[in-house]
Amino acid sequence: MSDQHKGAQIMFSTMQDAPLSIARILQQGSGPHGASAEVVTWTGEGARRSSYAEVGRRAARLAHALRDLGVTGDQRVGTFMWNNAEHLAAYFAVPSMGAVLHTLNIRLFPDQLCYVANHAEDQVVLVDSTLLPLFQKLLPELRTVRHVIVVGGDKAALEAPTGVEVHGHEELLDGRPEEFDWPELDERSAAAMCYTSGTTASPKGVVYSHRSVYLHSMQVCMTDGMAMSQADRSLAVVPMFHAMSWGLPYAAFMVGASLIMPDRFLQPEPLVKMIAEERPTMAAAVPTIWQGVLQYLDADPHDMSSLREVVVGGAACPPSLMKAFEEKYDISVLHAWGMTETSPLGSVARPPVGITGEQRWTYRASQGRLPAGVQGRLVGDDARVLPWDGKSVGELEVRGPWIAGAYYGDDDPEKFRDGWLRTGDVGFITPDGFVRLTDRAKDVIKSGGEWISSVDLENKVMAHPAVAEAMVIGVPDEKWSERPMVAVVLREGQQADAAELREFLSGEVARWQLPEYWTFIPEAPKTSVGKFDKKRLRRQHADGELDITHLT
Ligand code: AMP
Repeated sequence: MSDQHKGAQIMFSTMQDAPLSIARILQQGSGPHGASAEVVTWTGEGARRSSYAEVGRRAARLAHALRDLGVTGDQRVGTFMWNNAEHLAAYFAVPSMGAVLHTLNIRLFPDQLCYVANHAEDQVVLVDSTLLPLFQKLLPELRTVRHVIVVGGDKAALEAPTGVEVHGHEELLDGRPEEFDWPELDERSAAAMCYTSGTTASPKGVVYSHRSVYLHSMQVCMTDGMAMSQADRSLAVVPMFHAMSWGLPYAAFMVGASLIMPDRFLQPEPLVKMIAEERPTMAAAVPTIWQGVLQYLDADPHDMSSLREVVVGGAACPPSLMKAFEEKYDISVLHAWGMTETSPLGSVARPPVGITGEQRWTYRASQGRLPAGVQGRLVGDDARVLPWDGKSVGELEVRGPWIAGAYYGDDDPEKFRDGWLRTGDVGFITPDGFVRLTDRAKDVIKSGGEWISSVDLENKVMAHPAVAEAMVIGVPDEKWSERPMVAVVLREGQQADAAELREFLSGEVARWQLPEYWTFIPEAPKTSVGKFDKKRLRRQHADGELDITHLT
């Protein structure tokens, strides 16, 4: 507060103080949009459908069942599930009844999963029957879980330790009332939690509030956000266990957009079939998913004409991918940046009005503009705040009503500075507010004292027609201390050697940035959420597992 205002009386508004809540979003989706919007769950052969009214009724029945199992107050209810209608009902039932939804990332290592479920003190876990073999291994280590609800399949397939009861989802919901008297909650109370992937230290819990979810959903629907509206059918490829599925489920209920859920069918072939048959207007996933879809389509064309826009984020989107979608299929790729800690929508790359031609690509390839709800600043090595001049490079820090201000039960002073979240992402911001990230702080390559952007090199190598994927890491070098090494995955049936790829890069990057270390790998190592896993590549390099070509 400025000195001028200290001690001054505050004049309050005459507005009502209605809490922003997930129950309100549920009422809107299952009421006014209850008949017109639907959730479609892929089954492998086809689809099963539920109207939003039906999802609302099932959410009420689930809430009654959870109450009967003793879920009260802010107890945590975990989900160990794919993207499907049952998961969607849990997304609404658990927070709306006042408990806290904890989406467990099924792809974390078992010891990390046990750590997060124990750390969050999950009382109940809903598990998809197709994931029971995986869950079975964890269950004996889960210290606070008292009830497991098996969704689909046979509950008898799960062997429970003493003190844990197993229930079948359908029989548990059977005969329960189809309405629930959703309590009026404090909008700042916890609604849901998600742990970050924790590539180095233990995973950290991000706890979203009703207020943050509500405001974030509005941002997803804004025209300059993801522009979701009642006219949309949204294909949510991004898992519901990762960063609240980029806000799609809640936003879709807010405006009455339909949802298409792939369940466990996340490979290019079923995704393409889903798109051709269910005709989504928008879709969201990490770049590696779209690379796979593109390759599949090259070999086996399908009708993609329903898609107006595909949101790509979670990792830098190679411009070659954007151009291929636009040129071959007339689908616009929208690049977006965010983190689990940012709910996750941070910035969205829609070029300013009037920008056309080649200049458009500069904007579209950037991470985009931060909206009013996300304030950003760049901070240099010496903790100085840097200008938005399109040149000064520093770490991006953000703050706002849907940005984490702390981790759950874990002081991590490294990640927060004076109320700002330190993103660990490095780049610059243009005077008109577009963020361009050059690297993760820990992935930055420093060669002879000069920075080299690994992301920039990756994008340029991936523009070669024979290259499916390219990862760049810094490797030790006697003369320059560190030099870039490129790990290349070639497209099926395509050939290119290190010399040819380096030649392709010359003219695109400064001579001193041209990589001399190259390796060809059958598959790029990926994290639990499908991003390039550079830590694993570094380890493979350090362990001498890679066959490296050294060009002189
Ligand atoms: P997670 O919390 O697992 O979703 O990871 C968040 C991190 O993913 C960010 O801090 C970035 O490093 C990275 N990321 C997300 N979106 C982008 C993007 N569009 N471009 C580059 N990196 C991104």
